[in-house]
Amino acid sequence: MQEKLSNRINNLATSQTLAMAAKARELRAEGKDVIGLSLGEPDFNTPDFIKDAAIQAINDDYNSYTPVDGYVELKDAIITKFKRDNNLTYTYPQIVVSTGAKQSLANVALAMLNPGDEVILPCPYWVSYAEIVKLAEGIPVEVSTTLESNFKMTPEQLEAAITPKTKMLWYSSPCNPSGMVYTKEELRALADVLAKHPDIIIVSDEIYEHINYIGGHASMAEFEDMYDRTVTVNGVAKAFAMTGWRIGYIGAPAWIARACNKLQGQVTSGANCIAQRAVITALEAPVSKISYMVDTFKTRRKLIIDLLNEIEGFETTEPEGAFYVFPNISSYFGKTIKGHTINNATDFSMFLLEEALVATVTGDAFGNPECIRISYAASEAQIEEALKRIKSALSE
Ligand code: PMP
Ligand code: GLU
Repeated sequence: MQEKLSNRINNLATSQTLAMAAKARELRAEGKDVIGLSLGEPDFNTPDFIKDAAIQAINDDYNSYTPVDGYVELKDAIITKFKRDNNLTYTYPQIVVSTGAKQSLANVALAMLNPGDEVILPCPYWVSYAEIVKLAEGIPVEVSTTLESNFKMTPEQLEAAITPKTKMLWYSSPCNPSGMVYTKEELRALADVLAKHPDIIIVSDEIYEHINYIGGHASMAEFEDMYDRTVTVNGVAKAFAMTGWRIGYIGAPAWIARACNKLQGQVTSGANCIAQRAVITALEAPVSKISYMVDTFKTRRKLIIDLLNEIEGFETTEPEGAFYVFPNISSYFGKTIKGHTINNATDFSMFLLEEALVATVTGDAFGNPECIRISYAASEAQIEEALKRIKSALSE
């Protein structure tokens, strides 16, 4: 019966981050002690002051459909946040609240792309970008970057990737999976190229904005000449430890926001009412209220880099943001260890799962076949144990 499924779904790859997390869960259910470093999910609980706001919202009988694009009070909080943190001025018709930043991205793709439109994706990119673009019948155009350039796309690379069919550029900074952060100067250099191609729309995914170890978050929309053509995507999943609450949002030109609103109105309606009320409280809080989590990630970042440096064949950058390391492990290609022949990053990641009981994600999922992604949103004890196991499994 499989053939009865649509081409759309048959051509869609399963999310490899979620698939790896599911596999780790399965192995755990079989009694295996798997350490999950695959999913990009803070291991903190949602802060109490946010949980209290949700409880209050339930008791206050927030239970009806919300406006499709979000409560006005939440839009107020988002508008204030954009001004406070990013120096961006948005008005109500430019904001759309969605069921996670993932839906925000899918909305934009479905609202913007016609079959054959090209979307430039600097590699490595977040796992779902390419699939969302394909779902919307667009064509992902990958621009490879290297560890030597800290996984940053250069203006020359961007220029070379642009064709008459280029509709959009999508990137995340801080980047999932590489952890790189574009400086304002680097973004300006990319903007200078885009200025020569005024029809290209930019999607700037800033969901890791607050998880930044070098300071100085920059938004593409800050540049006056980019503001009217940039969709700024953000959400609360990462910095506020609210992955399951499912709230993301965009600040965008009103015509794009209107289109996303129309689409969402036919597909999901407004996001969950209780989660929206809780997010008002989250966004209104000073950023200092969540900085303890970022401080902890920073300590873990040092720990994991130090431990990785002790293992032969892991070449890595020092991530500047997010909570991932993205080491190049291609020196293992062509080798056989413990009976496993490793020809690519997927083989390597599966080897780590089977022989070290550590779940990671293959770089192929992010458009880079030489690396694997390791999430350090896990306790120090888990990180230490995981790296000990990896070292031991590879020592043969
Ligand atoms: N963008 C990036 C870069 C991400 O890592 C994630 C991970 N969840 C998302 C978007 C989607 O976020 P959400 O959980 O809000 O859908
Ligand atoms: N964004 C996280 C990750 O990259 C969560 C999983 C997902 O939404 O795909 O692991």
